Amino acid sequence: MVGAGMAGLCAARVAAERFDRVLVLDRDTLPPAPAPRARVPQGRQPHLLLPAGARCLEGWFPGLVDDLVARGAVPLDLCADFYWHQCGGVLRRPASALRGPAMSRPFLEDAVRRRVGLVPGVTVRDGVTAVGLTADPTGRRVTGVRLGDGSTVAADLVVDATGRSAHSLDWVRALGYEPPPVSVVRVDTRYVSRTYRRSGPAEGGWKAAAVVGEPATRRLAVALAIEGDRWITFVAGLGGESPPVDEEQRRAYVRTLPSPVIADLMATCEPLGAASTHRFADDRRRHVERLRRFPLGWVLLGDAVSSFDPIYGQGMTSAALQAEALGRCLDRTGAVDRALARRYFAAASRVVAVPWSLAVGGDFAYPGTEGPRPAGTDLLNRYVARTVVAAQHDDAVALRLNEVQAMVRRPGSLFLPGIALRVLRRGRATGPASERVLPRPARA
Ligand SMILES: Cc1cc2nc3c(=O)[nH]c(=O)nc-3n(C[C@H](O)[C@H](O)[C@H](O)COP(=O)(O)OP(=O)(O)OC[C@H]3O[C@@H](n4cnc5c(N)ncnc54)[C@H](O)[C@@H]3O)c2cc1C
Repeated sequence: MVGAGMAGLCAARVAAERFDRVLVLDRDTLPPAPAPRARVPQGRQPHLLLPAGARCLEGWFPGLVDDLVARGAVPLDLCADFYWHQCGGVLRRPASALRGPAMSRPFLEDAVRRRVGLVPGVTVRDGVTAVGLTADPTGRRVTGVRLGDGSTVAADLVVDATGRSAHSLDWVRALGYEPPPVSVVRVDTRYVSRTYRRSGPAEGGWKAAAVVGEPATRRLAVALAIEGDRWITFVAGLGGESPPVDEEQRRAYVRTLPSPVIADLMATCEPLGAASTHRFADDRRRHVERLRRFPLGWVLLGDAVSSFDPIYGQGMTSAALQAEALGRCLDRTGAVDRALARRYFAAASRVVAVPWSLAVGGDFAYPGTEGPRPAGTDLLNRYVARTVVAAQHDDAVALRLNEVQAMVRRPGSLFLPGIALRVLRRGRATGPASERVLPRPARA
């Protein structure tokens, strides 16, 4: 595995059941305790683990979720504990089975890395940069990776989990193979995040909140309870909109959003550490399923396949689902051959298709988004806006919308008759664009 981010770690766990030895390489110095990493700058921003991702991780590491919670992660019902204000109102918060503990990215990655390191046959090496691939004399089969110090590591299968730059694409090009076609949708989302001391539950009992401004404002804010009795908030500007870094200015900026809950939290909780910024230029999807010529023994996984606007919180879950798919494909083919790669590339593409459609579709609701617009996007966005309004009145619609966002149901399930009729009935915006529905208190 080249890369010990969430994708490389998930893939290592899956590979360990199918190969005698698994080596995970990372160019970063991996910290001995949860801490942001230099080569994973997004780790300072909030990272929500969706239930589909939590299910994979718990399956690979039984007891992980309980352990995370015991160490301070916050148990979260993604529906009942989530205050979600969009399209002029607050969505209903029925109890659900959508569970995923909330924590910081370094906290989760540290816990997963420790467990991966304990899996028999797995070795994690840090401070090691992969710089190329080795191949057999025909160039048809990858035989390992070349490292920055000039040494090589032999491997039957090399998984590029190097993140959105997908470094191995240059390496396979050097072997004479073209990279996969890529779809790029320019979003230019800018984040400013900061942590605050959490001394008790938020008013209304929520543990996570998202306040989404009208698309024309290109502003939204999110707050998430995390380990260490902290909140982490981020303020995002889409389409080049730039949230201020200065605390007071940012608080005033967040006050312009249609609900005060996150601005109030920022005003009443003690800030911890400095604010950190992140800029996300574009959604990027590499169409690995269209690759016709590629070397055997090489695959991409995680952000290397596709990275989506992070405001939808899908990246780690997508990586876990791709790793799960890789395991299934290895079981089906039983060999590292062309059939494995074809099968896996098709499966990875199916995994990323869902978050891609949600993220890219959602991004096109904002002015400034540029790129190939999937067919039917405007129609879909109008329907989703109606669904959000209906979810302000109707528990069943709110639950379904949350299930889709949580990646446990496919977007098509929003169109099934039982939901569509409710959306058509309740999804007409009425009254002033203000808070029409009071948040339900979180369950005990
Ligand atoms: C601002 C922001 C917020 C986000 N929020 C969420 C969220 O709420 N929920 C969610 O699920 N996802 C979120 N994501 C996405 C998430 O960070 C990624 O999708 C996820 O971590 C999968 O990443 P990865 O492992 O593929 O890549 P990365 O996490 O980028 O890891 C790649 C690893 O490869 C290593 N590497 C790179 N090149 C080499 C090399 N040549 N040799 C050796 N090692 C190498 C790097 O050091 C790094 O450790 C967010 C992303 C951003 C930018």
